[in-house]
Amino acid sequence: MSSDSEQYDVLVIGAGPAGYVAAIRCAQLGLSVAVVEKWIDRQGNPVLGGTCLNVGCIPSKALLDSSERYHEINHAASAHGIKTGRVSMDVPAMLTRKDKIVQQLTGGIEGLFKANGIQWIQGYGRLLSDKKIAVINHASERAEYHGHSIILASGSVPIDIPVIPIDGQRIVDSSGALEFEDVPKRLAVIGAGVIGLELGSVWNRLGSEVIILEALDSFLPTADQQVSREAMKQFKSQGLDIRLSAKVTGSKATKKEITLTYESAQGKQKLPVDRVLVAVGRRPNTHDLIDESIELKRDERGFIDIDCNFMTSVTGVYAIGDCVQGPMLAHKGSEEGIAVAEVIAGQSASIDHNLIPWVIYTEPEIAWVGMSEQQAKKSGVNYKKGMFPYAATGRALAVNAPAGFVKVIAEADTDRVIGVHIIGRSASELIAEAVTVMAFAGSAEDIARTVHAHPTLSEALHEAALDADNLAIHKAAPKRR
Ligand code: FAD
Ligand code: AMP
Repeated sequence: MSSDSEQYDVLVIGAGPAGYVAAIRCAQLGLSVAVVEKWIDRQGNPVLGGTCLNVGCIPSKALLDSSERYHEINHAASAHGIKTGRVSMDVPAMLTRKDKIVQQLTGGIEGLFKANGIQWIQGYGRLLSDKKIAVINHASERAEYHGHSIILASGSVPIDIPVIPIDGQRIVDSSGALEFEDVPKRLAVIGAGVIGLELGSVWNRLGSEVIILEALDSFLPTADQQVSREAMKQFKSQGLDIRLSAKVTGSKATKKEITLTYESAQGKQKLPVDRVLVAVGRRPNTHDLIDESIELKRDERGFIDIDCNFMTSVTGVYAIGDCVQGPMLAHKGSEEGIAVAEVIAGQSASIDHNLIPWVIYTEPEIAWVGMSEQQAKKSGVNYKKGMFPYAATGRALAVNAPAGFVKVIAEADTDRVIGVHIIGRSASELIAEAVTVMAFAGSAEDIARTVHAHPTLSEALHEAALDADNLAIHKAAPKRR
């Protein structure tokens, strides 16, 4: 490694969906870019893509798909008249498929870096003064680089519970729960957030008894409450044992089992299990990222403070993605990556954080954008709502997915859509239409007057929009004079 300070227009720390997207857009805009990335995969190879590609969005969705197919064959094939013999799960083969998908995608980012002339600096980066970054590479050599602008995109890491130490085998974080080589008999999941629900679903479908312990007394409190209630009903019917007001306080591991202790309304409880997934949230990965000589403002949780142009308290140093405030979602980071690159290139760019869709990839899927009904009520806006059940659409019945509904919330006076909430098959895909309509300040009538193909699940959104004015076609009419 050279000890000279190499110069770039832009230096990025972190090649997750925030950092790598920022780098590509910078290159598209004619800037010279280098990205510092330290990630080493389980085979010992340096890789790009960050949490999302390596241990997050992509591998979890691969396992969700495999486990859903297994579950369907066992539990839903007969409804179609399909007769199967004994079906079994080859877990290592499932993991190999997942790994191949991850490798294909991380290799794809490497290809995009080459195609865009982006330099990948392998190693651990640390911000120094004067917009310099010190990098210690994987051979422990040190070098310094200088960027006219710097983008911090160091992402996030799982929060741990010190009294329940992760051992990577029986007590794991989300990365470990993507690697179980056999199906746990009894799996405790600590935390009923998105990650706990998705990975809990994977192993539940494959045959684990899954007990989810959640400290809060409410389930999915940020979702629309009608959606949360429906989700709880559906997940319980799938056999997920979700215990609310259950704060886990300790664990004791013996050779045979792990006994978790948790506090509930009934007092102290003990839960013996054979594996534990700690999924109590993520924290910004900003520890040891910034030299002590620099006063770069962070909040008490470690999120880097930024202004509306993604600039930190240090001029020329920007931050995006999970290491700044906002939803910890890949597409939020990527949009910020595009916007910050455009700002650095002298253009103006902004993101409407109210239009970031949220998705939970369980079955049924859950997706929403904009205000929930409880938020609309709290804000005092005069609103109306339309609802439509999946069970009343032909396609949902044809594909054996009658569970769920679509809910559209619109301003009563202007008809402008302010929130759309979907629980049901393919909600993750359907929400895109709602985001587009809201991005154009569209109305419920705009959705209602748009032709939706028949039979599709999107007709449920169409009908929910019609229902905002009591005009849904396939729903019992409200009493009219
Ligand atoms: P990251 O992806 O965390 O990338 C940060 C990168 O910076 C890492 O590669 C890291 O190695 C590197 N880095 C950090 N510090 C340094 C340093 N000092 N030097 C060099 N490199 C450094 N989001 C969704 O939108 N949809 C999903 O379905 C979804 N599923 C998820 C499932 C799981 C199990 C998990 C854990 C997360 C999931 N997420 C999902 C969240 C998503 O992964 C994150 O929001 C996203 O990865 C954040 O992107 P980022 O670029 O900000 O950070
Ligand atoms: P999220 O932040 O969405 O990933 O969700 C994490 C969840 O874990 C939150 O709902 C927290 O309330 C929950 N949680 C945090 N600590 C504990 C704990 N000790 N026991 C049970 N649940 C917890």
